[in-house]
Amino acid sequence: MEQTTSMRTHMCGRINTNDIGSEVRVCGWVDRRREHGEHLVFIDLRDHTGVVQCVVDQNHDLRSEYVVQMIGLVRQRPEDTANPELATGEVEIEVRLVEVLATAEPPPFPLDERTEVDETIRLRHRYVDLRKARMQRNLRVRAQVNSAIRRGMETQGFVEVETPMLVASTPEGARDFVVPSRKEPGSFYALPQSPQLFKQLCMVGGVDRYYQVARCLRDEDLRADRQFEFMQLDAEASFVGQDDIFRFISFAIAEATEAVTGVRPTEFPRISWLDAMERYGSDKPDVRFGMELVELTDAFADTQARVFRAPCVKGICMPGGAATLSRKEIDSLVEACQRWGAKGLAWMKVAQRDGLAVLDAGVAKFLSAAESAAVISALGANVGDMVFLVADEHQLVRHVLGLLRLELGRPAVNEGGLHYLWVVDFPLFEGFGADGLPLAAHHPFTMPHPHDLELLGASGEALLGVRSQAYDLVLNGWELGSGSVRIHRQDIQNKVFACLGIPPDEAQRKFGFLLDALSYGAPPHAGFAFGIDRLVAILAGETNIREVIAFPKTQSGADPLTNAPSLIDKAHLRELGLRPQT
Ligand code: ASP
Repeated sequence: MEQTTSMRTHMCGRINTNDIGSEVRVCGWVDRRREHGEHLVFIDLRDHTGVVQCVVDQNHDLRSEYVVQMIGLVRQRPEDTANPELATGEVEIEVRLVEVLATAEPPPFPLDERTEVDETIRLRHRYVDLRKARMQRNLRVRAQVNSAIRRGMETQGFVEVETPMLVASTPEGARDFVVPSRKEPGSFYALPQSPQLFKQLCMVGGVDRYYQVARCLRDEDLRADRQFEFMQLDAEASFVGQDDIFRFISFAIAEATEAVTGVRPTEFPRISWLDAMERYGSDKPDVRFGMELVELTDAFADTQARVFRAPCVKGICMPGGAATLSRKEIDSLVEACQRWGAKGLAWMKVAQRDGLAVLDAGVAKFLSAAESAAVISALGANVGDMVFLVADEHQLVRHVLGLLRLELGRPAVNEGGLHYLWVVDFPLFEGFGADGLPLAAHHPFTMPHPHDLELLGASGEALLGVRSQAYDLVLNGWELGSGSVRIHRQDIQNKVFACLGIPPDEAQRKFGFLLDALSYGAPPHAGFAFGIDRLVAILAGETNIREVIAFPKTQSGADPLTNAPSLIDKAHLRELGLRPQT
């Protein structure tokens, strides 16, 4: 839609040769000023659509970031001054009237895209930072994604239901943010880690298909892909199974991707959690490149080489690595693997001897001819490649080689296309906590796999074999989101609580309302949620979600703009029943 208003007839970045000869009115910020001689200056005037060159009398006091309205005639630029890089590069405005709408302090940092600016300074003056073309583009990509997923869900009959922000704790595996209650000093609300329990209650309430663009809050250490508060497309549906959920979510994701890139993704392949862990060493595999982990344990069953006598040996092959990796780089890879928990990293070049590919350098001399041959053939290695082997406990080998693979081969965020992947058949429990109790891999409302229900009575390691009906969506190695088929029967829910070591009275106290609801006629239901910040970041080609959030927190959780978190005064603390810190 044309964005004209009573103050402007055109957007700066849209003026072109079709407008030559017309009088236009434009508004925006002074981007750049250049002297022109003959008492004239060039002013680049900027709004979110771009810049337009304005020729102005030099007597006007027009400084960087002043907000200005210009009225004038569009004319062709003299040929030698045209700028083909710029959409408006062939024209300029011969200004007859200038009005300064607001003056401005000199900006705290240059607004061009080339200057690296410290992030804290950018965030402290985010309102200036947002004027940059990159931020304008990212915010608009985000809006497109939000609008496309809403449309996508609504087309499929999903109804938006809002759920409260002041709630009781929702276990998603993170720490809660809490809000003290003034009316009941000593009591606290939790901010929702997700709307999980409410969306399940919506299903018991007959909503049938729920969605929400929901804000979730988790008190976790922040990273490039994690903020305290983040947005999810949260969804739940009744009388469905896993395949139905995949269809609903893939549709919404396809709508969003197409809205931004113009290309509709058609492939949403699946991989089992076990396969992902064995082949990629990760439950969020980046399948934009190969270098898969290859099982070599059997090849070393009778080895004489001590380093390879271990419960598990796996390897990866880096094509062409023999020539591209320097000794210094290899040493730092070995160090990285030790930091990740491995005792060491065995590396060998694939060289040619008598016309045959052989392993050379590194630990190759400790290998028998049969072992070398087996490694080369299992890894499909060719002359000039580099192979890396790790021997240790099974889980550790997967973990370390998974990270090494990413280190060696991971493309930049905007390279290699968009590869969506459903990871299915997650285990129900991901290990044991310090107290010896199993830890829920997803959340405690996840339905175990129907074939593994019997195993719920088991103890110890056998419990880790229980599969769940939980699934993740992965995009280019980023976990976009998770979901599961839910437990809709009180008896199974109680069994899972018992496995997790949550005694009946505690279950009643924490989730009594959910257990009650399950006893009043709960339909079978399942759902999913994916992170909108992450999806937008990848679609916008950004590696850090802070670049696609208008007002994010820094890595340490502070907001340099508003100075949150901040102290509150003593009287306020007292009112909340809290003691000031001494
Ligand atoms: N509540 C889950 C989460 O936030 C998603 C789901 O199971 O639907 O990760």
